[in-house]
Amino acid sequence: MPPERTPSGRRQPARRPPPRRRRRTQRRVPPFALAIIAIAVVVGIIALVARGGGDDPTASSATAEPVIPRVSEADIAAAAQQLSPRDQELVNIGQTGVSINRAGGNRKYVALTFDDGPGPDTPAILAELKKANVPATFFVIGRNVQANPEVFRQVVAAGHEVGVHTWNHPDMTTLKPAQQKAEIDNTAGEIVAVAGTAGRLFRAPYGAVDPTVLKGAENAKLLSVLWDVDTQDWMGPSPDQIVQAAVSGAQPGSIILMHDGPGNRASTVAAVPRIIKELRAKGFEFATVGDLVISDPPGADDMSSESRDTQR
Ligand SMILES: [Zn+2]
Repeated sequence: MPPERTPSGRRQPARRPPPRRRRRTQRRVPPFALAIIAIAVVVGIIALVARGGGDDPTASSATAEPVIPRVSEADIAAAAQQLSPRDQELVNIGQTGVSINRAGGNRKYVALTFDDGPGPDTPAILAELKKANVPATFFVIGRNVQANPEVFRQVVAAGHEVGVHTWNHPDMTTLKPAQQKAEIDNTAGEIVAVAGTAGRLFRAPYGAVDPTVLKGAENAKLLSVLWDVDTQDWMGPSPDQIVQAAVSGAQPGSIILMHDGPGNRASTVAAVPRIIKELRAKGFEFATVGDLVISDPPGADDMSSESRDTQR
């Protein structure tokens, strides 16, 4: 299975349910229809659980409001716990007490990753990725998903992978286990609620992990992923500096850290097409983190139990 999606394999956008008003004008709601709607909600939930995610917002399609699905938090949590075969394969790559820093290095593929969004510059990054036909991975902050649901749905609809980057972006190692769990579960639930997909990746804010944090991710059936190439784009360097850091640091299997939110990411937006062009010129292809590590599983040297650094 090639890790990069072919054009024909890319997911199609615009599969969201029509707005409420259109649906209401198309049909009145006789009493028996209410029963049908109730059944549709249940079927939708079952379908979501069976699929374990995907870009089809099944949960939303059976609701009156397109934004907030009419499923309980328990339903969302149950869906988030269900694993598709690919999800299971992904989670199995993780080992107790470690994070993945890069893939095995046997294929000339890298993963571009974007943290802290969705934010105002996320659509511009999506546009650059689309132009270049490059899949990427977005580690999102739960409260930013809640604030920018439409942008988040665009990320998912474009076929990119998403992962949990906590709700409030705390240093997780400073929190009690119950708080850590809430940071992960609330974000995972928001991802399902907004986009109907369950991310199976976790990235700790600041790359700060300890055994408790890693155990919490494992309990949530998330693969902890950090990086091996840090562009330090959050420090406000020029596009040149970001390109230089990404291109000079990339090795087969690299996971490259950038940021799409919040705040001004103009330098990152400018750097992305150049990074893609220069890495392609060096013979690299691009994959999501999940496809990267499934197609080229990390070895012991590619995992670590330690924090990466105090980066954003
Ligand atoms: Zn972050």
